[in-house]
Amino acid sequence: MSMLERARPELVAFAPYASARRAGFDARVRLDANESPWDSADDGCTDAGLNRYPQPQPDALRARLAALYGVDAASLWLGRGSDEAIDLLLRAFCRAGRDNVVAFAPTFGMYRVGAALQGAAFRTLALSADDGFALDTDHLLALADDDTKLVIVCSPNNPSGTLYHGDALERLARALDGRALLLVDEAYVEFAGVASASALLARHSNVAVLRTLSKAHALAGARVGALLAHPEVVDLVARIAAPYPLPSGSVRAASAALEPATLARTRARIATLVAERERIAVALAVAGGVRTVWPSAGNFLLVRFADAREAFARLLGAGILVRDFSAQPGLANCLRITIGRPDENDALLAALGGARR
Ligand SMILES: *Cc1c(COP(=O)(O)O)cnc(C)c1O
Repeated sequence: MSMLERARPELVAFAPYASARRAGFDARVRLDANESPWDSADDGCTDAGLNRYPQPQPDALRARLAALYGVDAASLWLGRGSDEAIDLLLRAFCRAGRDNVVAFAPTFGMYRVGAALQGAAFRTLALSADDGFALDTDHLLALADDDTKLVIVCSPNNPSGTLYHGDALERLARALDGRALLLVDEAYVEFAGVASASALLARHSNVAVLRTLSKAHALAGARVGALLAHPEVVDLVARIAAPYPLPSGSVRAASAALEPATLARTRARIATLVAERERIAVALAVAGGVRTVWPSAGNFLLVRFADAREAFARLLGAGILVRDFSAQPGLANCLRITIGRPDENDALLAALGGARR
């Protein structure tokens, strides 16, 4: 069954805004888009070509990212970070005031915000910190009903660092077939050392995967993310998206990040961060005032302190900012610590009075 049957009915045949560039023509003299004919780069003011609108979905970048992620270009949509794809999927599938979204907690806060903006109910299965945030897929599925349009699994999960992959995802995809989209957010999968859930796309038309250049590829400021999904879902998202989602400068930055030499450097930096994550996890586990360091597959650690407020203040006093999660249900006294450069991590350990290298 096509997932379009589960989309908002009024959007299935939705006609997108007919922008000039969407028509796909090219010519030497372009008088079609009310752009300025002068490139302000000629006076040294800006980068070249900014007087022209960008391609709605830049072909070359799309092809390279599709190759990197192992999918066909028709299964990939590029947007302003994965945040935009989350928003558009919620808008495409959820009827306001009727439909709902299922996820577990704790997880990435944007899902709840996006669901609220679209008027969709947000149902969560509370995972237990004491249980290592283990996921019982039957319990998650028990929250889904006829009006559930998205089931979201963040893996590795922000903020717990927990990995949910393999059989669990396959089981969810099968159980939700024809009913709901299984959205797997892989913002941190590069740090996990496991295969992407995108392999499920070939067998399940109801699976969608989010990838981003913001974390492992060091381009948070460029705002480039990708949705990997069935071509019908990609086409629907493209039709409801803003006419020109990606600024030219971001396209150039993303393209540069995908050059072989840069990719090789990225892989080396991922290896450094993973080694640092394990070093810091071991050191923190024996540091004074630390209760629990959960295993993490991301570029961060979730840490429970005896007194998180005191630890947060101590770190801030040393010029180090971490994220306080202690107000979230089940995460009392928990801080999320991003893994930095080795010298930054040493400063963190020193501030906490923990073991050094
Ligand atoms: C950081 C993060 C994102 C946001 O990615 P962008 O591509 O920068 O929008 C998405 N999902 C999770 C779980 C994240 O932590």
